[in-house]
Amino acid sequence: MAAIEMRNIVKEYGDGFKAVNDISLDIADGEFMILVGPSGCGKSTLLRMIVGLEDITSGDMVIGGDRVNEKAPRDRNLSMVFQNYALYPHLTVFENIAFPLRLNKKVSEDEIRRRVKEAADMLELNEHLERKPANLSGGQRQRVAMGRAIVRQVNAFLFDEPLSNLDAKLRGQMRTEISRMQRRLGTTTVYVTHDQTEAMTLGDRVAVLRRGFLQQVASPRELYEQPVNMFVAGFIGSPPMNFLPAVVAGQRLQLPFLEVDLPAKAAGKVTDGQLLIAGMRPDHFEDARLLDPAKRERGALFRAKVDVTEWLGDSQYAYIPFEANEEVTRQLAELAAELDSEALRTQLIISIDAMSRLRENQEA
Ligand code: ATP
Repeated sequence: MAAIEMRNIVKEYGDGFKAVNDISLDIADGEFMILVGPSGCGKSTLLRMIVGLEDITSGDMVIGGDRVNEKAPRDRNLSMVFQNYALYPHLTVFENIAFPLRLNKKVSEDEIRRRVKEAADMLELNEHLERKPANLSGGQRQRVAMGRAIVRQVNAFLFDEPLSNLDAKLRGQMRTEISRMQRRLGTTTVYVTHDQTEAMTLGDRVAVLRRGFLQQVASPRELYEQPVNMFVAGFIGSPPMNFLPAVVAGQRLQLPFLEVDLPAKAAGKVTDGQLLIAGMRPDHFEDARLLDPAKRERGALFRAKVDVTEWLGDSQYAYIPFEANEEVTRQLAELAAELDSEALRTQLIISIDAMSRLRENQEA
């Protein structure tokens, strides 16, 4: 096992395009780090540079204290699990898992048997050891790929969207298994995904990337509660954070259909009359009809016309269209461009406890 340190890593392709731009990131020994971001943000490129499948244009990649920039992948002692599993079709499950061990002539046949059995036990593959990959389900194939990764002692596991070919239910199961396996083995792990749930549930910390730049590295909770910019705020959380036009009015903030107290952390940083974009999570709204009067008085009440509702069993989402006046909309567009954000929305999404039984088109 080993820590992974990245110092000012850049990946520039032939045309001068920087897929990874000056990224510095420290992953502690035994840590489970997620790399997340929209398609094309550079997360796979970064992972491939750790493993050695992609040259590093500049910067230092240090694994277990050794600078590995020029080291071939096989000399880095890492295991990678790919999205497409990359199994050998002509080999049995046993031989697929044993493959990395057979590359090392010093490992005895007994040792190979013992280690494959141990990996197969952990991944519940014992019954399938003599089958070929073609005769396995997608989930089983994924397990074989993981078996091959964990069969030898490595500095780190690297996962590149390993669950994206599985259906939603299986993805959920495998997610739990990966989490359990990583905790049990305690091996440093870097996991690339664009899936919110995987990002928020699997990792000790999450690194959010956008257009080759690192935006924030933090625990899932901190990302959700303390996003450093509008991109992270809008990217993390589902349904996404609402971004509403807001005007500072003394100690209050005027929003399209309600007025709230200026958040304490904004005090001193804004001026009266300033136009802002206010972020409010859908789950920070409550159905006033269900609140006891004391609590209701502490909040900001509003009435709005609900356009669409989506019922999800334990909660439901209500969509409320709104319009800001033309001048505000124009100024906001400028502000959003300045913040390099595409995130301005024209509807408010609120998440309401299913108990409130909000009906379509009902006034809330
Ligand atoms: P996805 O989730 O879609 O896989 P990603 O975040 O993993 O996206 P990368 O595969 O790392 O993104 O690609 C980052 C950027 O680098 C993309 O804009 C991609 O088009 C570009 N890119 C990747 N490989 C090359 C290449 N060989 N030559 C030029 N540009 C490339």
